[in-house]
Amino acid sequence: MDGFVHLAYVVSKEIQLECPFSMVDIFPSAVFDRTALQNHEALIDVEDPSTNVVIAKIGNASADQIDQVVKCARASFLNGAWAKMGAEERQVTLREIAHKIDENANQLARLESRNTGIPEWQVKGRHIARAAYNFRFFADFIGQYSSRIYEQNANYLTFVRRDPIGVAALIAPWNAPIALGSMKIAAAIAFGNSCIIKPSEQAPLGVTRLVELIQEVESLPSGVVNLINGDGRVVGDALVRHDGIDLVSFTGGTTTGKAIMRSAADGLKPVTMELGGKSANIIFEDADLERALDGALLGIFTNNGQQCLAGSRILVQESIAEAFIPAFIERAKKINIGQPSEVGTQLGPLSSRLHMDRVLSYVEIARADGGEILMAGERPVGLETGNFVSPIVTRLPSNAARVCQEEIFGPFAAFLTFNTEEEAFKIANDTKFGLVSYVWSQNVSRIMRAQDALRSGVVWVNTPMMRELRAPFGGYKDSGIGAEGGEACLQFYTHPKTVTIPRQDIALNKLGA
Ligand code: NAD
Repeated sequence: MDGFVHLAYVVSKEIQLECPFSMVDIFPSAVFDRTALQNHEALIDVEDPSTNVVIAKIGNASADQIDQVVKCARASFLNGAWAKMGAEERQVTLREIAHKIDENANQLARLESRNTGIPEWQVKGRHIARAAYNFRFFADFIGQYSSRIYEQNANYLTFVRRDPIGVAALIAPWNAPIALGSMKIAAAIAFGNSCIIKPSEQAPLGVTRLVELIQEVESLPSGVVNLINGDGRVVGDALVRHDGIDLVSFTGGTTTGKAIMRSAADGLKPVTMELGGKSANIIFEDADLERALDGALLGIFTNNGQQCLAGSRILVQESIAEAFIPAFIERAKKINIGQPSEVGTQLGPLSSRLHMDRVLSYVEIARADGGEILMAGERPVGLETGNFVSPIVTRLPSNAARVCQEEIFGPFAAFLTFNTEEEAFKIANDTKFGLVSYVWSQNVSRIMRAQDALRSGVVWVNTPMMRELRAPFGGYKDSGIGAEGGEACLQFYTHPKTVTIPRQDIALNKLGA
């Protein structure tokens, strides 16, 4: 049903035709300030990264609007229509949301791809499919867990139930808005919370449409899922600090994560932080090298290289480096760079001009640290208007190089070589991050030693990027706090309540009798 969707306003006629999105009238039930449309200072431009043309404007929420959205979410939580609903009924709604996403997959994929530059086929096949799965997954999950009963003392029954906490602020990044945003919404509401999502101001369109579609699901009580748009440092921060917010789930950069933790600390609000990465992709000489090559390319160039879990440091054993690196370059040169809407596109434009310039600036930084520039990252001919860049491949003399220590968040591969297993693990762990590691080897004992030694929240062996949603996904060190996934979300989005009841009348000491 309805709820609060904060203003988004698509200015591109083409998008309006492709997708019936978001002139203000699309949100008849939404609470917003129509005068914002006249006041251009209150609007934020949203660009298409393949042209850098402004395709939409979103409202930059005022303090009043933030108050309203929180009130709306709080009222829905307190009235209990969702929070006290049985799991069986919530499961039905979550599955209806998944179905709604499937029905609108093409439209969501097009919108998300237009706004992020990620190839549309990747968005549809991975992000939108994942979004629908997130809701189905949590529908199944809430049907599986149950309260625990403790009976150590035969005279008493103690059980521990888990209650929803309240209103969750969900703050999402621009690199996979629907995939990551839907995970947060599904997890928050599955356990009975209400939520407010704040998408990235850079790529808000897909998530805004997603929330609009979710609100059309009739069995979802009004006000359970809400959205607010605006600048992160102002609107995001005000949302996190708001008294009506009980918990904060954040995915984004490490510096932002630290700021959010500081803001949340005042209200003693629990946080989860899914932050940056500089993940090692370790290729041993005994790997299936063809498979490792496929994995290394996918690890760094999927999603236009803009992934927290990118295998951005490729560690190759010295004995195979002279064959592996040229083979990688040969394949990287053939990667199809093109318009995100085209089916054959493997690498689309980077998210913004500013970001593209930042990614390219790391070529000189690598050179200054003694790196060899194997592919420099060129602007492809015929694609000069958007933020298109060809793959960048470098080889560094040491892991101390800045490109091996700083998250670049683009199609930028940094090769390092090693001789021994111990050396590989040492280099892999020599980073302030610890999100994922990739290991390629056919030696089971070596794989076991690797998973033991690597200090990261996830270790992928002989496979890139395989998520099992029941297992936690979260980082060590500067890559985060807490995790997402079935059990981890149960812990974060619910509060344990211990209830103790005597089985029979048990005499109590009579003080003062
Ligand atoms: P970002 O940190 O700039 O912004 C993320 C979100 O936070 C946006 O919605 C933004 O508006 C908001 N925000 C900014 N300042 C805020 C503040 N002070 N208070 C509240 N909200 C604020 O990140 P980004 O550039 O959108 O995304 C890229 C980063 O996200 C990369 O570092 C990447 O590694 C990380 N990321 C991590 C994961 C993971 O699961 N670990 C997944 C995807 C992306």
